[in-house]
Amino acid sequence: MPVKIGDMCISCGACAEECPAGAVSEGPEVFVVDASRCFECVGLSGEFLCAPVCPVQAIVPDEGAAETEARLLEKAASILSADRKIPALEALTEATSRFRK
Ligand code: SF4
Repeated sequence: MPVKIGDMCISCGACAEECPAGAVSEGPEVFVVDASRCFECVGLSGEFLCAPVCPVQAIVPDEGAAETEARLLEKAASILSADRKIPALEALTEATSRFRK
C-alpha cells in the first residue's frame, strides 16, 4: 500500500527530498503523497525510505490502498530512470522489498 501523510505533518519537506519516485509534494495544508507514483520503495529498499526521516512520524501505510509486490515493481521500473538497476521480481530480498520480511 502506498503511504499517506497525517495531519501532524509540519511541512518540513524532508520526506519529499528522500522519495525516489518524486511522489511527495507540498499540499494546501500538509505534504501529500501521489499514490499513482508511490511504489513503496520496492526494488530499492526493504523499508519505506520516507518514513524514517519524518521528525513527527506523520507517514503511515495507507491501509485502504493495497497493491501487489509485482505491480509495485512495475511502477518502480516505469518511474525510475533506466540507469537505476531494479531487480527482477524473483530476485527481490528482504533488503529490496518489504514483502520479503
Ligand atoms: Fe511532513 Fe514528516 Fe514529510 Fe516533514 S517529513 S513534510 S513533517 S510528513
